[in-house]
Amino acid sequence: MSYVWRSILKGLEVLKEGLIWRIGDGSNVNIWKDPWLPRGVTRQPSTHKGDCELEMVTELIDTSSFSWNQALITQHFHLDDVPLILSIPLRAQSEDFIAWHFDGRGLFSVKSAYKVHVEMLKREQSFQVGQGSVAIPVSTEVFKKIWKVQCPPKTHHFLWRLAHNSHPLYMNIARRGVELDTRCAVCHKFFEDGGHLFLNCKFAKQRWRGLLLEDVRLKLLPCQSALEMLEEVLDLPEKDKLLTIAFLWNWWQERNRGNHGENYQSIDRSSTQYVDTLMNGPQ
Ligand SMILES: [Zn+2]
Repeated sequence: MSYVWRSILKGLEVLKEGLIWRIGDGSNVNIWKDPWLPRGVTRQPSTHKGDCELEMVTELIDTSSFSWNQALITQHFHLDDVPLILSIPLRAQSEDFIAWHFDGRGLFSVKSAYKVHVEMLKREQSFQVGQGSVAIPVSTEVFKKIWKVQCPPKTHHFLWRLAHNSHPLYMNIARRGVELDTRCAVCHKFFEDGGHLFLNCKFAKQRWRGLLLEDVRLKLLPCQSALEMLEEVLDLPEKDKLLTIAFLWNWWQERNRGNHGENYQSIDRSSTQYVDTLMNGPQ
């Protein structure tokens, strides 16, 4: 492919990444496939469609009052999505239209397109790192901190992969073009990315609370990337750091063991047992 064509295609990808539907009557916008929520990269709901029969955004709008049908939205969407949907302004008697997400007025500019392009490159790089194909962008400082943690080498390796977001989470596999069910292996409800599995999954939340680490979880929640999250963890006071690492490592093992979904059984462990398992393997 010629350079010119490659540039044009790249330009189109950038354009697509930056577009968002502004809702008029919602009849042109597909709830599950179109970008319409002002959040994240896909700008789509985090709720999984499952067997929900709703298709177009217009079905979520109460036509008599021309406002969002709150009851219906609460019934069908994940808690993270509900306030976001309800915050979207509706434009009575106007058609849906496509706008540029990165400008308050929806206007496209080369400067903001450039920013989107840089973000795309960063993401592509972090996905490829999982496949071991490009140089590792993690600083030597983080590298040293990982290796200083007093834990077995297998856990260093686990943290290393966490820094690169290269664990085979279902969303990571799907991004590499594999078609699969991307719902969380534990709760079977939401897309399984690192943020969900380690921080937001309701079963993980129970563990954080049980280990009195809820403060730590809340501190990690706003992190924008796996690397940023790991850097926060590595900067925690020694005791919290070890327990958090012990939890993350154990939680990943538990997720992989396959006792998931309907049959998921919570295994109660004390903080000491968590750290013991990290250091010495399962009892
Ligand atoms: Zn889950």
